[in-house]
Amino acid sequence: MRKSPPAKRNKALATLAVIGDEIAEAARYWFSTLKPRKPPPLSEFMTDHARSDDGARIRPFPFQSDMADAFTDPQTEQVSCRKSSRIGYSTILQCFVAWRIRWSPARTLFYQPTIDDAEKFSRDDLDPVLQWDIVRQVAEFKPRHPDNQIRAKRYKGGWIQIKGANSPKEFRRVTADDVLLEECDGYPWATKEEGDPARLAFKRNLTSPRRFSAAGSTPKVKGFSRIDALFEQGSQEYRYVPCPHCGHMQYLVFGDGTGAGIRWEPKKNPTRVWYQCQQGCEIDEAEKAWMDENGEWRAHNPAAFPRHRSFHIWAAYSQHPGAAWGEIVREFLEVRHDPNLLRTWVNQVLGEAWQEKGEAPEWQRLYDRREKAMALGTVPSWPCILIGSIDVQRGAGARLELDVWAFGSDRKRALVDHIEVDGAVANQETWKQLDRHLAREWPTQDGRRFRLARAAIDSGDGTNTMSVYAWARRHPGFAMAIKGRHAVGVGQAIAGPTWQDLTIAGRKIKKGVRLWTVGTSMLKLELYGALNLEKPVDGDPYPDGYVFLPDGTSDEWIKQLVAEQLVQKNLRNGRSRAEWEQTRPRNEALDNAIYARAVSIALGVDGWGEKKWRAAAGIERKRRKIPPPDEQSELTDVETATVGTKAKAAQSKKPPRRANPFTSRRR
Ligand SMILES: [Zn+2]
Repeated sequence: MRKSPPAKRNKALATLAVIGDEIAEAARYWFSTLKPRKPPPLSEFMTDHARSDDGARIRPFPFQSDMADAFTDPQTEQVSCRKSSRIGYSTILQCFVAWRIRWSPARTLFYQPTIDDAEKFSRDDLDPVLQWDIVRQVAEFKPRHPDNQIRAKRYKGGWIQIKGANSPKEFRRVTADDVLLEECDGYPWATKEEGDPARLAFKRNLTSPRRFSAAGSTPKVKGFSRIDALFEQGSQEYRYVPCPHCGHMQYLVFGDGTGAGIRWEPKKNPTRVWYQCQQGCEIDEAEKAWMDENGEWRAHNPAAFPRHRSFHIWAAYSQHPGAAWGEIVREFLEVRHDPNLLRTWVNQVLGEAWQEKGEAPEWQRLYDRREKAMALGTVPSWPCILIGSIDVQRGAGARLELDVWAFGSDRKRALVDHIEVDGAVANQETWKQLDRHLAREWPTQDGRRFRLARAAIDSGDGTNTMSVYAWARRHPGFAMAIKGRHAVGVGQAIAGPTWQDLTIAGRKIKKGVRLWTVGTSMLKLELYGALNLEKPVDGDPYPDGYVFLPDGTSDEWIKQLVAEQLVQKNLRNGRSRAEWEQTRPRNEALDNAIYARAVSIALGVDGWGEKKWRAAAGIERKRRKIPPPDEQSELTDVETATVGTKAKAAQSKKPPRRANPFTSRRR
């Protein structure tokens, strides 16, 4: 950035001044237009040029000013904002776009959670900005012009593209200077082939010499929140404000009614709401503007400052009437007894990730609400894919347990079948029986037939691992050997695969089979959250993520599905760690449910659009043979995912050497 103009120009101005006032005035104006001006910091630009939807001026609140300036500070490469709603973050982004166009054209890439969100953002948030006076002075965005498409805008020296994080295609073939993530905790989880969407997005500007990255989101689940992780990496700035009575600097918290925080009385229908200072003073809401005015951001991780600035901000600081302390309390009292609503409130109002308790849902409630219209052994009527999951039991009562799950759009899932294959794991006949079940077709109520797209098998138990590997090796591209781990990474449910050596009949085979690692904790929390969703009444639609259990599901199976809970274990160093604890002797249904879900994530089903679901549901009628046993294949795209296995083919003696149908079908 250039600094103030050179001194000799000032000298010239001074000389001219003696010639005459009028000429001097003209000359001063002339020079002022020539003078290379320094771009203003974003907060100043906001004050001068930002307009709300009705054309009114927007004055940034003090807490917003510093956040905004981080976007245009040349020393700052990255900004992460963990936030509640109603704090004006999108206004900052809007102003940043206008500032770019006016002062510093660049290739700017936005990522919204979905392509639909991207279009909505473009229409509602971006298009109005492009009509601000300050933008129109330098760029014209004509309606229906090729340079002004919904998700791609071009102007002199730069462009803006808005993408959806729900499609892998959105991360390809584009290089940008700015990468701006919106609501990144709402992105789909990482798939095995594509990786984490947030990480992929940030790769888009790695080669830019002037790269700038930013992410803003309300956080979702503790331990799996991307914005939480980004906040931790950054400077971790909190807004400290002075108490108007004692001057003590502190950042605002909701509190638990004992120490500092928002307080109210009476407890049920409060008529008085105030903020309790850390030193005990009672602060009236009318002081809020003054407090912010005299506040400052303080970094808890100054090592990252100013390179990566991260901010935590929540509704209590906002001066919008909808975020008044009394309003925050009123909403809390409404939702406090409903875990689902409370969770949303914690995310949206406090701007904090929800600490999932991991309490096991009640099995009786799930048993009583089984779907009368669905029967065990039948595929749901909605478009879906089937994924099998196999648990290996040894010792007395040795058997394989196969659960078949259907996955559909909006993260809904249904149990389709539960099959037990008795027999010792060491016995080949046990595995042949399993193959016969896996090769089956499952009917829908209207007579269509479905086969399994994939089958996951738990290889975790060391004793059986070689048998499991050997079986998985015979079904490349169809069977996925899986090992569970508490967690594999932020926002990631399944990782790998890694090559594993195996021994068959005394012969060691190097890198003979692939092994996927599944982050079980995250998926258990997701399942329990889904099981806690209320079943709709009076024909209302089922909520997203609903788990359908058909009529005929046994009580034993349901008990197994909820057989663990998350407990806090105290460690010696005074900290505590969350651990899953088994509350019943058997938990195979839970493990199987988690592994099937992990496979669905690996296939990327969370990002599928309607068209892809229909294609997936239509393709299963075609039959294809299982690939030759000695070929290993990658997981490929959807179409290959909906083909089943044929046990007979797997046993054929000398398979012809040919391309694997699971991979070669790609065109
Ligand atoms: Zn005080």
